[in-house]
Amino acid sequence: MTDRTLDALLADLVIANRILAHEGVLDDFGHVSARDPHDPSRFWLSASRSPELVSRADLLRFDLDGRPEDPGQRRPYLETIVHARLYAARPDVRAIVHHHARAVLPFTVTKRPLRPVFHLAAVLGEAVPVWDSVPEFGDTAMIIADGAVADSHARAMGGGNSLLLRGHGATNAEAGLAAVTFVAVTLRDNAEVQAAAEAMGEVQYLSPGEIALTAKMQMGERPLSRSWEYRRARAGFAGL
Ligand SMILES: [Zn+2]
Repeated sequence: MTDRTLDALLADLVIANRILAHEGVLDDFGHVSARDPHDPSRFWLSASRSPELVSRADLLRFDLDGRPEDPGQRRPYLETIVHARLYAARPDVRAIVHHHARAVLPFTVTKRPLRPVFHLAAVLGEAVPVWDSVPEFGDTAMIIADGAVADSHARAMGGGNSLLLRGHGATNAEAGLAAVTFVAVTLRDNAEVQAAAEAMGEVQYLSPGEIALTAKMQMGERPLSRSWEYRRARAGFAGL
């Protein structure tokens, strides 16, 4: 018997890989996952290959300790545990992107907070937290391949949808693939615009009231599906 709900989710997960690669958020590294639509203690993520190349046959199902089911010859990403422990910590989260978008990196290594500077970026909240593994774990290889480190990373995100990782990149978590794709692209866009604006002079950031009102509107089903349709077409999947 076919499972149309699961088939649709896995098709969208392949498309999310291609969209985020096409938009330059994911590159040779980084990854995007989705929680299983029937079993919240499982999630789907590609085996280790670049998102531009991911297809249905690469997708594996994992438990919340990052163990794959039936991997065969397919080798998981080293940072699979980032997704596993964030799904464990956040029952509201149904999709996660972990990436190393270059534009966000300056905000991970300076004291300058990443804050929304244009209306769409209200979805990021008032200031994106920065997580550094050094206070708890000292010098590491700077990838998150260990459960305790991944739990620390999940705690640092709190209840928000974005977290910056010092000298590494960022993680985004949302209620679905369209939402997390929108947030990941917008985080990168805001980093670019904010850095350009701050280089020009004094910046007027969005106010807390503007952030609250705009984020609520922007995360509605209609804007998200419009954005998803647009990004999907740009990535070569128009008319599906
Ligand atoms: Zn990483």
